[in-house]
Amino acid sequence: MQLYNTLSAKERAALLEEAGEDRLTLSFYQYAKIGNPELFRNHLFIKWDELNVLGRIYVAHEGINAQLSVPAKNFGNFKEFLDGIYFLENVRLNIAIEHDLKSFLKLKVKVRNKIVADGLNDETFDVRNKGVHVAAEKFNELIEDPNTVLVDMRNHYESEIGHFKNAITPDVDTFRDSLDIIEEQLKDHKEDKKLVMYCTGGIRCEKASAYYKHKGFKNVFQLEGGIIEYTREVNEKGLENKFIGKNFVFDHRRGERITDDVIANCHQCGNPCDNHVNCENEACHLLFIQCEECAKQMDNCCSTECQEIIKLPVDEQKALRAGSHNSNKIFKKGRSEKLKFGK
Ligand SMILES: [Zn+2]
Ligand SMILES: [Zn+2]
Repeated sequence: MQLYNTLSAKERAALLEEAGEDRLTLSFYQYAKIGNPELFRNHLFIKWDELNVLGRIYVAHEGINAQLSVPAKNFGNFKEFLDGIYFLENVRLNIAIEHDLKSFLKLKVKVRNKIVADGLNDETFDVRNKGVHVAAEKFNELIEDPNTVLVDMRNHYESEIGHFKNAITPDVDTFRDSLDIIEEQLKDHKEDKKLVMYCTGGIRCEKASAYYKHKGFKNVFQLEGGIIEYTREVNEKGLENKFIGKNFVFDHRRGERITDDVIANCHQCGNPCDNHVNCENEACHLLFIQCEECAKQMDNCCSTECQEIIKLPVDEQKALRAGSHNSNKIFKKGRSEKLKFGK
């Protein structure tokens, strides 16, 4: 999928023409103070339903995070509506043409506690007080500076398959954990080092940058639009690409190849591989890296236990699942004692 950024009127017209009757998939986020998320949610739902918009949107007191699919012919109305909301005027949209129209089947607008789960309970810090946004070119310059500390704000299973050269990649399962680890590591350098951060699309760094500023870091930067926008920009402008490997994404593709380097290993045999899969056993569903050989040998399972379970009749599998609280979906991404080469 090709992603487009804030487009000029001409570029947008070309994109819409290309899309024809197709839909556009797009994503955006914005931190803002939303007094009544419920009311705001209803406002969005009524209008977007009218425009036949589909997608998954989270609204919280701290802002909005949206992944949408919009009929190309309604894009003008959609954009006008966004621009009419003061904190969404000219918000950066990542847009792609969707030829396979299955990305979203419904319009779901949900009110959440937060748009990025951070476990923070700090009323004194304002997430809108963010670090300096830098685009690809400036980012490349910054990360060559010996005074810079480059930090990957994603989780371990994301940075495992791809990251920027020389980045610190915390071995964490959650965003919350990396906030503390980085602060501890850099506590003596709050004033003299440049803290440069990146994540997939920018939403996590934006919060992290505000958090670190609040914690006394003086020079905080974040990669504008994250790895997604960086990749688009280095390609468009012919800049050096300092990212190696794959960019982990949270849809069915699981990863977007950026360079041919394979920096990870199959969690079962240890051979070079950077393909994430989910264990075939529904009750397990462990996210891990598996090469084709092992997939064949293990029937797409993470362990011999799971391999046995999937051979059982469906009813028996269901019965087993009912008794199990051991969902790997949330806590064990890429982590299991059963994986010899996992973490
Ligand atoms: Zn293997
Ligand atoms: Zn399994």
